Amino acid sequence: MAHRIVTLPGDGIGPEIMAPTLELLDRLGDFEFEEHLFGGASIDAHGVALTDEVLAACRGADAVLLAAVGGPKWDTTDPARPRPEQGLLGLRKGLGLYANLRPVKPLPALYDASPLRRERIEGTDLLVVRELTGGIYFGEKTRTATSASDVCSYTTAEIERIARVAFEAARAKVTSVDKANVLETSRLWREVVSEVHSREFPHIQLEHVLVDNAAMQLVSSPRHFDTILTENMFGDILSDEAAMLTGSIGMLPSASLGADGPGMFEPVHGSAPDIAGQGLANPLAMFLSAAMLLRHGLGLASEAAAVELAVAGALAAGLRTPDLGGEAGTAHACKAVFENI
Ligand code: NAD
Repeated sequence: MAHRIVTLPGDGIGPEIMAPTLELLDRLGDFEFEEHLFGGASIDAHGVALTDEVLAACRGADAVLLAAVGGPKWDTTDPARPRPEQGLLGLRKGLGLYANLRPVKPLPALYDASPLRRERIEGTDLLVVRELTGGIYFGEKTRTATSASDVCSYTTAEIERIARVAFEAARAKVTSVDKANVLETSRLWREVVSEVHSREFPHIQLEHVLVDNAAMQLVSSPRHFDTILTENMFGDILSDEAAMLTGSIGMLPSASLGADGPGMFEPVHGSAPDIAGQGLANPLAMFLSAAMLLRHGLGLASEAAAVELAVAGALAAGLRTPDLGGEAGTAHACKAVFENI
């Protein structure tokens, strides 16, 4: 039976990188795609970034493939106006996607595209495991004329389940990142992660690092890391920082997984409104997100590997989009990858 995939192209470069990704998947197996409006495109059509119908369609799918949302057209600081990113938070909450996995493994062909020196990044192969449905992004928000607040809270259960994801994914070591010298949530985080570690994963090494130190080590000695486990906001920031090790944010995929039900797969980058409509978007993070969908969402490991090898092959043969310092447009990049499938 065909695997049912809900596709959410979203805004900006989203539709430009989604279309070739579906073409890529079609070359690898039998998939049924169901496309829906999401983000800014959904705000224009329905007044909200995520409708109940689209959430229901996502719940009923085998996996959800998302490109990107947002753009200047919908930017607003008025809390009463809808914003495209509300769709992302709604999907994460609605599908119970509490674990965000972001692998960062610079490809040898791109070592010289990174702003960091080759000796620094060579051999880096790390995974950021970010808690996705708790913390300050989901806490109560207040606003008066002269003040504002965002509550950051975590429960023991929320910390335990994300810690397990990280310990299970780690090869040998988990680096748990917090701000335990200042934040109460971080002190609970540290205690709970240590308990899960000693009770269930004593064979894995565990270290606790403060977030400011982790940010520094990510650029000074990225090879130090195996699996980084962290809360929602720290993970958001650190994974973008880690993205630059690969040379461009246009290279990084992610998977968001829950306890059961479909996972959601998307590139780390946004809708890149500055280059939208120009045929310049790098589709590789989107292709690699499709590879994560194949592996983690549908259990199709060899098809996933075929995508990853085709991307690495195209880059080794010299493919460089403008964000990687080259001149290849989206169409050229797609052709180069398809030829390697
Ligand atoms: P962005 O990731 O869209 O762009 C940052 C820079 O990277 C831009 O110069 C852009 O051209 C470049 N870039 C990003 N993806 C690229 C690709 N595939 N190929 C080539 N270059 C690429 O981040 P931003 O500019 O901060 O945000 C733009 C919009 O996207 C905002 O509305 C923001 O809220 C939204 N956003 C959405 C998501 C998401 O959908 N998950 C994530 C981040 C930002």
